[in-house]
Amino acid sequence: MTPDAQSRIARLLHHRKPGLSQGEPIIPPITASATFHLPTVQSGGQFYGRNGNPSWDAVEARLSILEDAEAISFPSGMAAITAALFSTLKAGDRLVIPSDGYYVTRVLSEGFLKPLGVEVTQIPTRDFETADFTGAAVVYLETPSNPGLDVVDIQSVATRAHQAGAKVIADNTTMTPLLQRPLDLGCDLVVAADTKAPAGHSDVLFGHVAGRDAALMARVRDWRRMSGSIAGPFEAFLVHRGLETLEVRLDRMCSSAATIADRLAAHPAVRNLRFPGLASDPSHQVVGSQMANGGFLIGFELPDAGAAEGFLARCPLVEQSTSFGGTHSAGERRARWGDGVSEGFIRLSVGVEPVEVLWQAIDTALAG
Ligand SMILES: *Cc1c(COP(=O)(O)O)cnc(C)c1O
Repeated sequence: MTPDAQSRIARLLHHRKPGLSQGEPIIPPITASATFHLPTVQSGGQFYGRNGNPSWDAVEARLSILEDAEAISFPSGMAAITAALFSTLKAGDRLVIPSDGYYVTRVLSEGFLKPLGVEVTQIPTRDFETADFTGAAVVYLETPSNPGLDVVDIQSVATRAHQAGAKVIADNTTMTPLLQRPLDLGCDLVVAADTKAPAGHSDVLFGHVAGRDAALMARVRDWRRMSGSIAGPFEAFLVHRGLETLEVRLDRMCSSAATIADRLAAHPAVRNLRFPGLASDPSHQVVGSQMANGGFLIGFELPDAGAAEGFLARCPLVEQSTSFGGTHSAGERRARWGDGVSEGFIRLSVGVEPVEVLWQAIDTALAG
């Protein structure tokens, strides 16, 4: 971890201290109130639960430290993505999105933005490097892409997109701001599903948009207020708590993923393993620079759907669920959702189980 990241983690843990007075709780309370004492509208502070809530303020303070930018919370990753897209697009604009990224972003773009007059262009993540962005209003990237784990050089895409006059939005869910910093690399907005590693315990949905352009962020804030796409205070509390251990969880998850990817790659039943941390992986070129490490997601293929489902059912330490980034290792066959991957492709999210126990369980389940 860079000294800069270490400092952010330490500040995140103690962010409330400067504002505390005698007898106040160290942990921010869950403020369950729709309304606030409001004798006059001029005096500032909280006034209505769709505009603001102290529990959002607490989690947004932590997210802002992580992103080094203003952060606005949302009730899910998709709510954050929707806010970013509706804040930057209008009829007649062209949006470029990855054809191999998170599928709901594609369905949202094709099903809702296109009928409103936005032209949607889908291109594979690895083609962003050479794509012509002329005429694009927004270039939206996701790297490493979910689930294929292809990467793109964020800085080079952002530079070319800006030259074409486009805004750049990055979905940073697979990496988190501790492992990859799209705003530092020139992106205008970052969107993320904090449902995944940031909250980390698979018990809450949450998302955020972060950015350093005050006018753009004001528009995102307006979107939240006007669409009513707001997180509940209990959800904000859970994410605030989850962020407390993000760094230690990622440390375990990413180092275990590196160990498991090495061993899976050498396993005779496994084909086409993808893990950016492996020197032989096509995505490896940005590990150590753009990506702090290889992350905690591994993609690999078993011979067919039956072999993949059998492995997932047999392995006691891999939950059969969608989503990733939780404390429990989890895996699923992505073709069941229509992702452009082979029938036997599994996305494995490595959790915090002690790695040798986890590997034993995986190895035994692979043997059938
Ligand atoms: C999960 C995910 C989302 C959506 O997040 P939700 O909280 O489920 O709405 C968006 N982008 C990526 C890359 C994801 O993995």
